[in-house]
Amino acid sequence: MIRQVAVVGAGIVGACCAAWLQRKGLCVTLIERAGAGEATSFGNAGSLSPTAVMPVAMPGMLRQVPGWIGDPLGPLTVRWSYLPRALPWLIRFLRCANVEQMWRSARALRTLLAPVFECYEPLVSKAGAQNLIRREGIVYVYDSEAEFLASKPGENMRRKLGAVLEDLTAADIRRMAPGIADGFRWGTYAPENGVTINPHRLTRAIAGQVLADGGRMIAGAAKSIEALGEGRVLVRLARDGAADELAFDALVVAAGAWSRRLAACAGDRIPLQTQRGYHVTVDNHGLGINRMLNWVRRRVFATPMDVGMRFAGTVEIAGLDAAPDWRRAHALLELGKRLYPDMNTGSVSRWMGHRPCLPDSLPVIGPSPRAKNVYYAFGHGHIGMCSASGTGRTIAELIAGETPQVDLAPFRVDRFN
Ligand SMILES: Cc1cc2nc3c(=O)[nH]c(=O)nc-3n(C[C@H](O)[C@H](O)[C@H](O)COP(=O)(O)OP(=O)(O)OC[C@H]3O[C@@H](n4cnc5c(N)ncnc54)[C@H](O)[C@@H]3O)c2cc1C
Repeated sequence: MIRQVAVVGAGIVGACCAAWLQRKGLCVTLIERAGAGEATSFGNAGSLSPTAVMPVAMPGMLRQVPGWIGDPLGPLTVRWSYLPRALPWLIRFLRCANVEQMWRSARALRTLLAPVFECYEPLVSKAGAQNLIRREGIVYVYDSEAEFLASKPGENMRRKLGAVLEDLTAADIRRMAPGIADGFRWGTYAPENGVTINPHRLTRAIAGQVLADGGRMIAGAAKSIEALGEGRVLVRLARDGAADELAFDALVVAAGAWSRRLAACAGDRIPLQTQRGYHVTVDNHGLGINRMLNWVRRRVFATPMDVGMRFAGTVEIAGLDAAPDWRRAHALLELGKRLYPDMNTGSVSRWMGHRPCLPDSLPVIGPSPRAKNVYYAFGHGHIGMCSASGTGRTIAELIAGETPQVDLAPFRVDRFN
C-alpha cells in the first residue's frame, strides 16, 4: 500500500501534486534543489486560461523555420550553436504541425485546463492565498484588422471546444485597458480566464501549506532514481556535499525542464526540450490597469502583477546551460512601450526561465511503463501555471488508486515510442 510519496521539484507542478496527494491522506516529501517556485514558476506571465488550448506547433509552421534561425530577436528563435543538438526535437515538433495533431492536442488540453480554478480553489483557500488569483478575464488585442481576421479560425476552434470569446470594439478596449496606444483597435475578450498576480508567491504559498500540514521538504538535488523490488522507489540525493539515499512507496518526477535525466534513470526516454522565455517587470509604471493583455501578433503578455507590470513571452531554443540573451528581454520592454506609450519605465527587472516542452505541447502525466510506482508530471510548456492544479489532482487520484477525472491517454509517457 502506498503511504510515503516523494515529489521531486517544488515548482508549481510539484507543489500542486504534493498538496493534492496530501488531500488524499498520503505523507509527502518534497525534494527541491533550489527553493519552492524559484525556477520557471518564478517569473511567468501568470495567465490561468482554460482557453489556452492551441498547441505551439501549428499547421503551416514549416515556412517560418528560416526566419526563426535568421532573426535572433524574433518571437521564436533557435540559437545557431545549439541547432545540431536541437534538431531531432525540432523535427518531431514540426511533424506535430498538422491539423490532425493540432485538434488532438487542443482537445486534450481543454480537458486538463477547464478545471483550473476548481482544482486551485481548495489549495489556495487552505493556504489563505485566494488574493493571489484574480478572475477578471484576459483581453487579446490586435493592431491590424488583417491580424484580427486571421485569428478567427483559431478562435472558432477554441469556441468549438467550449471556450467563451467575445469580440471587442475599439471603445471597449480603451475602457478595459486605459492608456493603451491608439493603434490597438481590434480585440477579443476571454471572460473565463484569470491570472495569478504573483506566480512565485502562489507556488510558495501552496508548497508552504504542504509543510504546515505535516509534509517534509528536503533541500537537495535528486541525482538518480531506481525502482526497487516490492514497488519501493529509491532516490539518490546530493545535499550539502554529502550523498544520501532514501526509499519511498512512490515517487513523482515534477522537475520541469530538468526531468529528462531522472526519467531516463527509470528507463523512459522522453523528448523534452526547453523553450526559454523572458520577462521584464516595470515597477511604478504609473498605469491604471488591472487586466491582463495579450498582444497576439507579437506574442507578448502584459500582466499587472503585485510587483509591477510584467511583459513576458518569446521562445528561444538554446538549451539549459547557455547564458541568457538579455536583448530579448529588452525587446519585450520596447514592445511594452508600444503597447503603453505613457508608461513610466524608470525601474525595470528582467528574468529568463525554462519552459519544459514536448513536441505535441502536451505534458507527460501518468505512471512510468517501466518502473513501478514512478510517476511523471512534467512538460507543461507554455501552460504550466494553468495546468498545474489539474495535474496535481490527477496525479493524486492515480496514486490513491482512484480513476482520474481527466482521460490520461493523450498524456501517456510512451506516446513518443
Ligand atoms: C516567459 C514565460 C511566460 C510564461 N507564461 C505562462 C503563463 O502565463 N501561464 C502559464 O500557465 N504558464 C506560463 N509559462 C509556463 C510556466 O511557467 C511553466 O510551464 C511552469 O512554471 C512549469 O512548472 P514546473 O513546476 O514544471 O517547473 P519549474 O517551475 O521549473 O520547477 C521545477 C523545479 O524542480 C527543481 N529541480 C529540477 N531538477 C531537480 C533535481 N534533480 N532535484 C531536485 N529538484 C530539482 C527546480 O529547482 C525547480 O524548482 C511561462 C513560461 C515562461 C518562461
